[in-house]
Amino acid sequence: MIEFKTIGSASTFLDPRRGFSPTTVDFQVRIDPLTGRTCHFSHFGALKAQKLDLPGYERPEVKGFCPFCADKRDRATPKFMPDIIPEGRQMRGEACLIPNLFPYDIHSGVVVMTDDHVVGLSGLTEGCLADSFSLGIDFLQRINSLDLALPYHLMTWNYMPPSGGGLVHPHQQYFATRYPGNQFMDELSGSERFFTARGQNYWHTLIETEVSGNKRYIGTVGKTHWIAPFVSLGLLGEIMCIFPNVFSIRDFREEHIDDLISGLGRVFRFYEAEGIYSFNASLSFGPKNQEHFNCFLRIVPRTFLNLRDFAPDFNFFQAVLSEPVCIVLPEDLCRDIKPYFV
Ligand SMILES: [Zn+2]
Repeated sequence: MIEFKTIGSASTFLDPRRGFSPTTVDFQVRIDPLTGRTCHFSHFGALKAQKLDLPGYERPEVKGFCPFCADKRDRATPKFMPDIIPEGRQMRGEACLIPNLFPYDIHSGVVVMTDDHVVGLSGLTEGCLADSFSLGIDFLQRINSLDLALPYHLMTWNYMPPSGGGLVHPHQQYFATRYPGNQFMDELSGSERFFTARGQNYWHTLIETEVSGNKRYIGTVGKTHWIAPFVSLGLLGEIMCIFPNVFSIRDFREEHIDDLISGLGRVFRFYEAEGIYSFNASLSFGPKNQEHFNCFLRIVPRTFLNLRDFAPDFNFFQAVLSEPVCIVLPEDLCRDIKPYFV
């Protein structure tokens, strides 16, 4: 089994809202059972996601120059070297694969997902998601076959300005790398340690544990398992989708894309109902020839704290302490999203 450790505590002060009588407020620190990293849970329910003015992003003075818009794309976006993509760019439906003008690594692609500049969650249809993911995954598989020296593969996604995305126009990044980030490497080495110590795959054990505990297990879609992780990287919680039989990019097939977009559609319907307009997401693939580090998708909502001064939802905790803070307990998030997975 997996040990889920919570340190519950409280702070007491004289509350001006109650005539300066003593008030006690609870908070929690949780320890990620895989990495040992901590996460603060506090300020419960104190914030709501802010509504974004989507039509406002179309106004010329706000929109500025967008290289991803269909009428600009041909002249303003780069093309791949012929040995990578002979035709320069690739299309599937409206999805268009181009190199990243600001690459993260040797092979760094962008999938522009739509022709339209502003597309709300309801516009990210199954067809749009299927075209985008399959184009991006094919690119990762191609660079994997061309360059075996880059062991890790990633899809990353900033959706809408609160997420840090520089362009409103929907797009995803796909790249191969030796350096996939500290979180990824901590999770990879934690998975190796778990496998060596127990002779079990951590992610399979996690699925079994969450299914039987039934507090954070959201549901099954095809062969995928959706959970609200014990520790959340986002202020408004985190949702994770685990692929139990996918380890490296070579294992990812069309059926996995089908399950992924079906589950993502449910998450998006939940986000719409909750007034969530923006998110960060990643889909990560471990090295080949191993069966202890599974592929998973992670998605966290993002929001401005307010629309008066556009304070972001990341602060000193994430910026200089590398500590996630969350105001939603995963068990409550799981209860709220579960009806969308029935
Ligand atoms: Zn655009």
